[in-house]
Amino acid sequence: MMEQRDVVIIGGGPAGLSAARRLAARGMSSLTVIEREPVAGGIPRHCGHVGFGWQSHRRIWSGPRFAEELRRSVEGLDIRTGTTVLGMSADGVLRIRDRGGLGEIRARRILIATGTRETPRAARFIGGSRPAGVMTTGALQQHVYLHAHRPFSKPVIIGTELVSFSAILTCRHLGIRPVAMIEEGPRISAPRPGDLVARLVYGVPVLLSSRVTKIIGTHSVEAVEIETAGRRSRIACDGVIVTGRFVPERAVFAQGPNVFTAGNVNAPLKTSGQCWRDGRDAADLILASLS
Ligand SMILES: Cc1cc2nc3c(=O)[nH]c(=O)nc-3n(C[C@H](O)[C@H](O)[C@H](O)COP(=O)(O)OP(=O)(O)OC[C@H]3O[C@@H](n4cnc5c(N)ncnc54)[C@H](O)[C@@H]3O)c2cc1C
Repeated sequence: MMEQRDVVIIGGGPAGLSAARRLAARGMSSLTVIEREPVAGGIPRHCGHVGFGWQSHRRIWSGPRFAEELRRSVEGLDIRTGTTVLGMSADGVLRIRDRGGLGEIRARRILIATGTRETPRAARFIGGSRPAGVMTTGALQQHVYLHAHRPFSKPVIIGTELVSFSAILTCRHLGIRPVAMIEEGPRISAPRPGDLVARLVYGVPVLLSSRVTKIIGTHSVEAVEIETAGRRSRIACDGVIVTGRFVPERAVFAQGPNVFTAGNVNAPLKTSGQCWRDGRDAADLILASLS
């Protein structure tokens, strides 16, 4: 027989776990959180730098410490890690895959809290070869913070959003030294005053109005070709970090009156504290709709 729940939350990041905590605190027991990673906590789990927790807990924590606190707040609830939602129908049936295979759950209310992801190289039309060592900030953070692995030592960074500076911090953690940041626009994309602070503090040369046209290298990255004002040049490097251009992670989901959303899936890229509040507010809306 198909499993039935009052509420299923898809995504165990700050938004999803905050919603779960709120629902449970208000007496909801027929509740399941589905998280595709082996451990819940979302992006903060692999953001090893500080900058988390203030808006939600009035503490200044690293990402992993914040994620730990989120997990602690939902202890005892039905959090299914290692489980991916593959799709859903408008009438509330979720198709899932876990270690045991495929399955279905019917939910009266669904909260989509699946966050966002950076646009990878494949979707950016960068020419050249396909060597190893080209990755998003998120993937880099998994290498560095979750596996203590140094995928390269002198990469270039494409983009200058706030997350691009987070990439620099991540690099520093294992002594990786980015050789340049490359920005298509005429100025740094991170909002002021972050752009000034970043330039002063991080000290990586920023090449503005420049575009990576080609990645060069057979097995690993050897250089990138860039174009600035119609002129092409090469920068020697051994990796490429493609940063930012966040897109919501919601391709497989239907919409409907019983479907709610919270966190970055709505508007990339908010802070983790804003997403945490979003989750709490969404939980209240769900409870009101059920009463
Ligand atoms: C590099 C970087 C640095 C950052 N630094 C800071 C900072 O210093 N301070 C700060 O406040 N914020 C920071 N942020 C932002 C913060 O991490 C996000 O705002 C926050 O994590 C968003 O929470 P969320 O719950 O909406 O999504 P996420 O944290 O992305 O969580 C979504 C979860 O949904 C899961 N999921 C997705 N699809 C499925 C599916 N189909 N089935 C099952 N599960 C699924 C994912 O595995 C993930 O665990 C940073 C973000 C990045 C990328």
